[in-house]
Amino acid sequence: MADSAPFTDPCLGTYRPVPAAGPGVCLVCHSGPPSGRDICHSCSFTMAQVSYPTRHVVPVSLYQAPGELWHVLRQYKDGSGPASGLLAVQAAAMLAQFTASHLPCLRQLLGGGPDLVATVPSTRPGQREAGHPLETVVRAVVSLARLRAPLLAPGTAGTGHNQPDDDAFQPTRKLSGERVLLIDDTFTTGARVQSAASALRRGGAAAVAAVTIGRVIWPDWNPNCRRIWDQASHEPFSFDTCCLCRDHGGHGGGDP
Ligand SMILES: [Zn+2]
Ligand SMILES: [Zn+2]
Repeated sequence: MADSAPFTDPCLGTYRPVPAAGPGVCLVCHSGPPSGRDICHSCSFTMAQVSYPTRHVVPVSLYQAPGELWHVLRQYKDGSGPASGLLAVQAAAMLAQFTASHLPCLRQLLGGGPDLVATVPSTRPGQREAGHPLETVVRAVVSLARLRAPLLAPGTAGTGHNQPDDDAFQPTRKLSGERVLLIDDTFTTGARVQSAASALRRGGAAAVAAVTIGRVIWPDWNPNCRRIWDQASHEPFSFDTCCLCRDHGGHGGGDP
């Protein structure tokens, strides 16, 4: 997208900044871990279920469910209703704005590249043939589209909401040490992202980092989630910084 700011600027107030990993912020997904832990409950669980989990999850924005961004990320792929096309444009504009500023941050995370860009395939039966709307979103982002490759197909195991599995997805071709940027729209438990990351590594990828447009936060889950959401709600969102290049700020982790 040549100029995506006009699509995101009116919505900046509905995006929430993602904190840098550090004390009180999950090292993987940037939500709130239990007190005294580096990694949140979801990531600890999902990463243990697959052979090659990734520790690199980079959300563009936090969101609450229900909420405005939650609505965008649910409805854009719905395909029904006159607004879904516009919402898909907004999702693409968010990715475009983000990658325009932070591809170097992702490159550093991956140790180079990215050589290829892949999306997490839909596990909804109706969307397998039609192609996932996320593919359309990624195709609209020039810097990602030129590296895009269909590297994953639904596997034999399927993915339950909480059931990461090495066989949830299968690599569609043999890779030879490429660094892959994996794109998904939302991150809830990480089951989809970790299953996909593991399949890519099994297929020969050297490194996988995942960019997700949104990462849901449940403020009542634990004190760190509450603090992260409160801070994110008071701080203006900007595409100038991401959770990889911003300061941790020295907050958090101190709840008893
Ligand atoms: Zn986490
Ligand atoms: Zn950055």
